Amino acid sequence: MSVGKNILEFRKGVSEEVTLVAVSKTKPNEMIMDAYDAGQRVFGENKVQDLAAKYEALPKDIEWHMIGHLQTNKVKYIAPFVSLIHGVDSLKLMKEINKRARSNERVQDILLQLHIAEEETKFGLSFEEAKGLLATSLTDGFENVRVVGFMGMATNTDDSGQVVKEFESLSTFYNEQQHQNNNIQILSMGMSGDFELAIAAGSNMIRIGSTLFGARNY
Ligand SMILES: *Cc1c(COP(=O)(O)O)cnc(C)c1O
Repeated sequence: MSVGKNILEFRKGVSEEVTLVAVSKTKPNEMIMDAYDAGQRVFGENKVQDLAAKYEALPKDIEWHMIGHLQTNKVKYIAPFVSLIHGVDSLKLMKEINKRARSNERVQDILLQLHIAEEETKFGLSFEEAKGLLATSLTDGFENVRVVGFMGMATNTDDSGQVVKEFESLSTFYNEQQHQNNNIQILSMGMSGDFELAIAAGSNMIRIGSTLFGARNY
């Protein structure tokens, strides 16, 4: 299977306004290079160690996104290069990202992760908590972090009505916040199983793994 061909095929079906994050977690560098040769430049990983290793080994014009849950004590390993952090869900984490970005003389773009799914296990903030963090990010001392949008994962269910409802709740929140804050430009929702519903609900960044790279064996 050619990942490059999959990417080209996939792109044909998705508006150019939607950023495709190719989720390459657990996949070898050769597959990433196959996608790269087809023009893909944005890749997502969910483990700090893998992200750092792939950054070292692969072309420097790749934009690396951290899409998984990020532990505070690991921020330092990706702070020099990570282009977007999708899963920010606490003040403690945002503080650490700000601090590490400052020592790297960078302004780190981040997305706040909202809890929109029914499942208890998924990480994320409530809408009220996200408003609080967003307000804090605009106060003195947070000059090295910039909230550029929101990320959310819908419930893993066959009930598309449920999924649509969850995506639309986040989309509504995104639109409200965007009216008050010009930095807010990114709504990251949608994976292999639900990206069409996510885009219909207003997503402009999708995170696609298995559809492009094949199923993962852990
Ligand atoms: C793995 C992962 C994806 C991609 O999932 P697929 O179903 O393989 O497309 C998207 N977002 C996050 C946060 C992930 O961990």
